[in-house]
Amino acid sequence: MFDEIKLNKEYKYFDGCRWVHSAEYRKIEIKNPVDDSVVGCIQNCTGDEIIRVVETLKEGQKRWASKTIDERATILDKAADIIESQVDFIGNILCREIAKPLNDAKEEILRSAQITRFTSHSVRTIEGQYLQSGVFYNTKNNKQCLVKREPLGIVLAISPFNYPVNLSCSKIAPALASGNAVILKPPLEGAISAFHLVQCFLEAGVPGGVIATVTGESKKIGDILVPHEDISCISFTGSTSTGEIIARKAGIKKLLFELGGNGTAIILDDCDLEKTINDVIPGAFSYSGQRCTAIKRLLVQDKIAGRAIALMKKKIEKLSVGSPLKNNDITPLVGLHHAEFVENLINGAKRGGAKIITGGRRKGNLIEPTLIDKVDPGMSIANVEQFGPVLPVIRFKKIDEAIEITNTTKYGLQSCVFTQDIDKAFYIAERILTGTMNINCAPSRGPDTFPFLGVKKSGIGVQGIKDSILEMTREKVIVIKTSKNLSK
Ligand code: NAP
Repeated sequence: MFDEIKLNKEYKYFDGCRWVHSAEYRKIEIKNPVDDSVVGCIQNCTGDEIIRVVETLKEGQKRWASKTIDERATILDKAADIIESQVDFIGNILCREIAKPLNDAKEEILRSAQITRFTSHSVRTIEGQYLQSGVFYNTKNNKQCLVKREPLGIVLAISPFNYPVNLSCSKIAPALASGNAVILKPPLEGAISAFHLVQCFLEAGVPGGVIATVTGESKKIGDILVPHEDISCISFTGSTSTGEIIARKAGIKKLLFELGGNGTAIILDDCDLEKTINDVIPGAFSYSGQRCTAIKRLLVQDKIAGRAIALMKKKIEKLSVGSPLKNNDITPLVGLHHAEFVENLINGAKRGGAKIITGGRRKGNLIEPTLIDKVDPGMSIANVEQFGPVLPVIRFKKIDEAIEITNTTKYGLQSCVFTQDIDKAFYIAERILTGTMNINCAPSRGPDTFPFLGVKKSGIGVQGIKDSILEMTREKVIVIKTSKNLSK
């Protein structure tokens, strides 16, 4: 099924109709973060090739939009079955490409199949509206208004390295379901897994001219596609800094952005500490902290800080460290520069007087799972998005102090509070500037049927299965005037 997407170890790009080689002879190597071995090479598309993809999709989108919702949804159902049948195969590639623990990599593929299936279901339930003019002040009742939803056109989907399959799928599925064409620009690290996902949609019957995937230098691709007037929507997930570059270039088009996060967990002294820590540890350390929703700052109320730290130290020291193929909890970060960045943040905190409780060292691109106490809210480690297995602890006395510290960050994706007092939980939840506030659970993206959004520098628009369909369609209003007033 995947034969045509590559020749030996060289992966092609999909130009809207076929898997092809780029005319550019220089290819880009994708290396396994664990041992630097080459997983495969990908194409470095030329400017002309990228522009031709848009032209192909412009025509194809019209044909796709003229299909019935049921026809499109049926293809999505088939795609879901195909993706599910490839969990082991694609999961293995994903594990080697981005050093994600194998079981988590397989889970990402399975989740993508479920997103596709639920999207097919959801698109069938989208409804329009019927309105009458006579409800408004001093207006005759001689106009009827029908509101239906229409696709936007071509969606440019740009996904990040940490969930290259899931976050490509959560853009492709709603875009296709609602009659858009979609150009996928996968991340460099994770591109090969994403190609396999695209092939699953093609195998399910997505016709020519409706989906394409381009790879190469991200700045070049962005410079061509982001401002292109035939791109109607950019669905981007990645860092806030890249999001800002894209937003500046995009011009007038729909922007759907999922950006960086710096999630805070607030632990109040009345919480069930054992249960809380059981949530906090995976919340901070899953996929070695390379998640936008990972807990990146732990605010612990003074009275229980000593006990909380002792408990966390014990649990962190039990995390397994090593190969993703063996499902270790902590695996090498996706690149050496990422690991060096995290190491610098740890060293900066140490110099500023914070105390390393456990971990703190780097070997290659592997960072030991690290717990740091007595972090000051002003330190870089508490303010920038550190994408590593590091949990900084900030102690606080009063609830309002915790709220203030939480709100100092420029991000606003998710946060959480642990307490047995529902009044305190709501007091905090209503005062934190965040897309989602979790009470007694760690932040997470999902289940994918929940709305997912970031405020401040963490995003624009709302994702989630139904929300993404709504965001990738627009309302079309049809007004009919009658010669006589309508009966009431
Ligand atoms: P990134 O460096 O911003 O890259 C994201 C994507 O943008 C990649 O496909 C990248 O391509 C592409 N890109 C880079 N520069 C571009 C440009 N000038 N024009 C167009 N595309 C461009 O982010 P990342 O390191 O892959 O992912 C980690 C970040 O994503 C973190 O900040 C994390 O918080 C965020 N994230 C957010 C969410 C959320 O839901 N809010 C979810 C997951 C991740 P190349 O890889 O080819 O450079």
